[in-house]
Amino acid sequence: MIKIVQPVIEDEEISGVIDVLKSGNIAQGPVTAEFEESFAQYCQASHAIATSNGTTALHAALYSLGIGQGDEVITSPFTFVATANSILMSGAKPAFADINPLTYTVDHNEVASAITKNTKAVMPVDLYGQPSDIDELTAVARKAGAFMVHDSCQAIGAEYKGKKVGSFADVSCFSLYATKNITTGEGGMITTNNPEVAELARQFRHHGQSAQRYEYLDLGYNYRITDIASAIGVAQLKKVGRFTEARRLNADYYNKALFNIDGLVTPTVAKDRTHVYHQYTLRVTEEFSMSRDELVAYLKDNGVAAGIYYPKALHLFPQFKDLGYKEGDFPHAEKASREVLSLPVHPLLKSSDRQKVIEIIKQAAKEKK
Ligand SMILES: *Cc1c(COP(=O)(O)O)cnc(C)c1O
Repeated sequence: MIKIVQPVIEDEEISGVIDVLKSGNIAQGPVTAEFEESFAQYCQASHAIATSNGTTALHAALYSLGIGQGDEVITSPFTFVATANSILMSGAKPAFADINPLTYTVDHNEVASAITKNTKAVMPVDLYGQPSDIDELTAVARKAGAFMVHDSCQAIGAEYKGKKVGSFADVSCFSLYATKNITTGEGGMITTNNPEVAELARQFRHHGQSAQRYEYLDLGYNYRITDIASAIGVAQLKKVGRFTEARRLNADYYNKALFNIDGLVTPTVAKDRTHVYHQYTLRVTEEFSMSRDELVAYLKDNGVAAGIYYPKALHLFPQFKDLGYKEGDFPHAEKASREVLSLPVHPLLKSSDRQKVIEIIKQAAKEKK
């Protein structure tokens, strides 16, 4: 089976972990500080704060901006559930805005229409590894007096106007989960240029304590990462350029092979930005020889794992439907959830694997409807 994701773990990750285990400092300590420093540098942000995962990074980000009960945060309904769950966790209300059907990121005009007097933040998602419309969204947020919180969990290394994501928003969040472009197994990272926001995020991650221990300034959680995980992160971050390059080569190969097949729509990269292909996502439309779900099954039968990210828009799940949403509210997101299909694009994919994926899809395209 050609896998849809595979983490790249090499000698440096393994020896880094062994060094931490032998050091006796296995919880959050000096290796995490080193990881944070190199992450901040990589994103050209002033501060980076590591957390236990991407979801806790988002929760801490919202806390550090003072967002809570009575506030609204506008985000995409077409994302992993953690994006919107973090808003519920903060006590605020998620408000959805439909996506741009070409890039799958939230549409800035739809965000502008969703603004209310309670809007406290706009939280775009760099879905599949492509930055959102940062300038337009920032203009909408600033006009409303709202913060920008960037869910860049899938987009480490992606660039907007020549600059990496992680330094544009008031706060940006990354996930280091096993399937992400770089990983620590489980882990997360917050970046910001605002020292007070950084301080509050650190406090929130550590039971609400000030830099002085056992001085509890507010409710906080244990959202810390371990040095065991950070050792993996330090090694991974050094290789992110190589990983991204491999993903791009795979994506280019697919683009060239698939762009002229009826009923398949290859990814669009909007101008002024680069894509890091956390996922290589096609649209399977009615013109294709089989349905999206049939193509997933066909690929699977022939030894290729394809993924559907995501099969249902968030506003249709109970915890958000209760906010008053219904089917039909976000037609582009709902249509995307019926049509998208992601192919294996990870760095460990061999050229023979890519070739096999293409052959199977071309075979599928010839099937009678
Ligand atoms: C992975 C992911 C998250 C959550 O990260 P975890 O590390 O799994 O908690 C949030 N948002 C998006 C868009 C993600 O892909």
